[in-house]
Amino acid sequence: MSKKIFILPLLFSLFISVSCANTEKEQLLASVLETLNLPSEKLILANKEQFLADMDTVLAADKDYLLTLVDKQHYLSKDYVPEDLVPLVKNNHYAINRNDLSLRVPVEKALCIMSDAAANDGITILVSSTFRSYDYQSKLYARNVKQLGQAAADRESAKPGASQHQLGTAIDFGSITDDFVETKQGKWLAKNAMKYGFSLSFPEGYEDVTGYRYECWHYRYIGIEACKMQQKWFGNIQQYMLEFLYAWDKASNAQ
Ligand SMILES: [Zn+2]
Repeated sequence: MSKKIFILPLLFSLFISVSCANTEKEQLLASVLETLNLPSEKLILANKEQFLADMDTVLAADKDYLLTLVDKQHYLSKDYVPEDLVPLVKNNHYAINRNDLSLRVPVEKALCIMSDAAANDGITILVSSTFRSYDYQSKLYARNVKQLGQAAADRESAKPGASQHQLGTAIDFGSITDDFVETKQGKWLAKNAMKYGFSLSFPEGYEDVTGYRYECWHYRYIGIEACKMQQKWFGNIQQYMLEFLYAWDKASNAQ
């Protein structure tokens, strides 16, 4: 018997099992989308195969677990501290505003690369706030409530456990004020940060989605591939993508 006779049925059954898995995945995708309220739902449904392929790329690239959903509904535990925090010290890449800053290793690396690119354009990146522990966030939140009142404090500061800063992957740049967006640094970041994997967490006009008012200074490192996915499939809104990935992960594990 020739080898062909063995190989052809093998290839055929392989084809069948791959296409069945794809159909299952597409069905799961449709059911996950039904539970969410994404403005880009139609776009995704019309291009399921491409979307799933892009998501595979993002998840495969996420070796550092950078895509955890943390928001007003999803809290980190009191004792969560990233294992790979490095202190930020004076260096030739970016400036620091204080001496108690720290970030996760892959974030600090990406920050160096981005800051060098900014420096080539004559811009100095200033890092003002980074990792915050649960206890630090508790004190900060309590202080904000005291100064601003509960409602105003909740628009711009997270309750302990709900802050992206506890992940060690979020950075507040420059002045941490609204006029930062008008500065050279703010404009440069708005235009270029995503090329280096940094995504603006609380964009203008999305307070009802993110839970927070516009913060032109607050970026979260999610990686370059995830930034591309955010732009291509989620209307460039980080919250939509992270909510989707959270729901996808839950639904896939439940199967
Ligand atoms: Zn922040």
